[in-house]
Amino acid sequence: MATMKALVKSEKARGLSMQKVDIPVITDEHEVLIKVKYASICGTDLHIYQWNEWSQNRIKTPQIAGHEFSGEVIGVGKAVKSVQIGDFVSAETHIPCGYCRLCRTGNMHICKNMKILGVDTNGIFAEYAKVPEVVLWKNAPELSQHFASVQEPLGNAVFTVTTGGVAGKSTLITGAGPIGLMAIQVAKALGAGPIIVSEVKDFRIDMALKNGADYVFNPTKEDVHQKIMRLTNGEGVEAALEMSGNEKALGLCIDALLPSGHISALGVFDKPFPIDINKVIFKNITLYGITGRKMFETWYIASSLLLNKRVDLNKIVTHLLPFEEWEKGFLLMEQGNCGKIVLKIAE
Ligand code: NAD
Ligand code: ZN
Repeated sequence: MATMKALVKSEKARGLSMQKVDIPVITDEHEVLIKVKYASICGTDLHIYQWNEWSQNRIKTPQIAGHEFSGEVIGVGKAVKSVQIGDFVSAETHIPCGYCRLCRTGNMHICKNMKILGVDTNGIFAEYAKVPEVVLWKNAPELSQHFASVQEPLGNAVFTVTTGGVAGKSTLITGAGPIGLMAIQVAKALGAGPIIVSEVKDFRIDMALKNGADYVFNPTKEDVHQKIMRLTNGEGVEAALEMSGNEKALGLCIDALLPSGHISALGVFDKPFPIDINKVIFKNITLYGITGRKMFETWYIASSLLLNKRVDLNKIVTHLLPFEEWEKGFLLMEQGNCGKIVLKIAE
């Protein structure tokens, strides 16, 4: 059987290993075989690498990691209709069943039977991968192949920014990791202003400014709440996007929000913690949880923002590494002195 290089979670411990494994074979008529060209590293992949508590409870070994990619269709199951051999594709990570109540009511992204690519199934840090047709996204041929792999997290940013609406609104973004940085550009493209960012790491503070934030504050060094009040005539921001997964940052969003404002919360927290729910109630705040991407509305918006050059991923992708240097990418992400990291898997 033909083999390929793949990044496998094989041990129940920190790390991943590059191994020779069998090239996947289509076994279901709805499956598509992809030659992976580019793959980007997500925080979830880092968690699997680090073998944190979440991954210990969720990941079955051995399994290939990775879910953000672009590549070429090289094989299709006999029922596949929407793509053909040679198509340039990426994919949504949330694999829906298509039949449950949530799938049938426009909520496929939170399907009751959802499987996550590279988390519940073999992923795409490999020369070849097979994915079900239902999640495939056909890319425009003019889209750059390495930026195409980053559309999935861009979709997280789009979903978070568009949910409450930001046009003409003062907007707070807490956390300027890769997704927060994308949210700055998306919010700006959609007419938000001023865009106020809260971030703790110097490298990312600098990146937030380069990505178009009007003000960036460091909550470990300054009173961000007070700064926001000064910038908004003592009223507070009209929209807040929580993109750090830090409990104090969510507290800032609640405190610094204009009563009646909207918080879209994307950041994932390590553990449950108390919030002052009466502030949410008496301020008439909407606190809206964001999971994944709205399928497939956010894919259309993300791809339009890229094709019409409203979002420039050159300012977000800081490293393009050969597949063999995958570990360097993971370690860079762990340090946080980077934006998005993309691996080149093949020509
Ligand atoms: P990231 O971890 O790279 O970015 C988080 C940023 O927040 C970092 O730059 C960090 O320095 C900053 N930060 C930490 N504490 C802070 C504080 N108190 N105030 C302000 N900033 C602070 O992550 P990312 O890849 O950009 O993703 C953003 C968040 O979204 C993460 O929590 C991630 O787990 C989550 N996420 C959620 C979904 C979902 O479907 N809900 C999907 C993808 C990612
Ligand atoms: Zn479903």
